[in-house]
Amino acid sequence: VKQAKAAGKPQVYEPREASAARRRFSIETELRRALDKDQLRLFYQPLINLKSGEVAGFEALARWTHEDRGEISPTEFIPVAEESGLILQLGRWAMDRAAQTVAEWDRQAGEPLPVYVGVNLSAIQVARDNIAEVVESALRSTGLAGNRLTLELTESSIVQDPGRAMRVFEALKALDATVAMDDFGTGYSSLAYLQRLPIDVLKIDKSFVTGMMRDPDAVAIVRAVLSLADALGMSTTAEGVETVELATTLATLGCASGQGYYFARPLEADAALEYWKGRRKKSAPIGPAMS
Ligand code: C2E
Ligand code: MG
Ligand code: MG
Ligand code: MG
Repeated sequence: VKQAKAAGKPQVYEPREASAARRRFSIETELRRALDKDQLRLFYQPLINLKSGEVAGFEALARWTHEDRGEISPTEFIPVAEESGLILQLGRWAMDRAAQTVAEWDRQAGEPLPVYVGVNLSAIQVARDNIAEVVESALRSTGLAGNRLTLELTESSIVQDPGRAMRVFEALKALDATVAMDDFGTGYSSLAYLQRLPIDVLKIDKSFVTGMMRDPDAVAIVRAVLSLADALGMSTTAEGVETVELATTLATLGCASGQGYYFARPLEADAALEYWKGRRKKSAPIGPAMS
């Protein structure tokens, strides 16, 4: 009896690829539903001016708490959104939501806050959507000035079709928005594009920043990026500033701003506004993280 039962049992083991593919497919279906039901949220991570210690701006980061699976990381669902084309809908949602949040902060403060919001744009959006129209519509419906927006683009949005990227970047500049090159140093773009495209800010990828404390090569790379940005008249932001040592080292090296867990994790809109108020009162340069 025992043996027969064991033989009739379905195989519990399944190849890793099969279950990964299944999860990916479920994520896609459920992401589509979550977008339609407006279940994604945007969090806002402060970017700190490393000279003054004030909040320079916030990066808007998508968050998804799944009913059964719990928190799903954007490092998992953004690639799925890109492969499925859902990124167009997600990207428009993020742009509108971020602009609405900043307009709401201004309304609560009774004046325009001296901060910008950074919105991530996928290479798929650059290739397939009319980004300038998406940005313009977010500005128009909120009444925000273009210079309150930083668009974070990656090197991958350039390599596929540099001519198109050039037109997109210039259209964004025409709206007075700031253009940042995200995760700089991890992609495959040529330095020639850096010179030709209207890029205002280089965001140094956190892999280099977190490496700085133990790896002299990472320090050399960060120094080189800072001096490249300086030579090309661009500003700089460091991602992944997790310790006070990193914050002070980056400040000494001349990096303009930093974002990371040392200052704050991504926050809900209300908490982000409170964080801004708290930082404004204490003017100590890159003082301890506030809660
Ligand atoms: P990213 O644009 O490079 O965003 C920075 C990431 O670094 C965020 O991860 C942020 O939470 C994380 N981070 C910030 N400070 C620290 C730190 O001190 N230590 C560590 N370990 N991590 C830190 P997150 O929120 O998981 O987002 C991952 C990526 O997903 C983003 O990387 C971006 O490429 C993408 N993403 C997120 N939201 C959106 C969106 O609305 N649209 C698009 N197209 N992409 C998005
Ligand atoms: Mg980013
Ligand atoms: Mg980044
Ligand atoms: Mg990154």
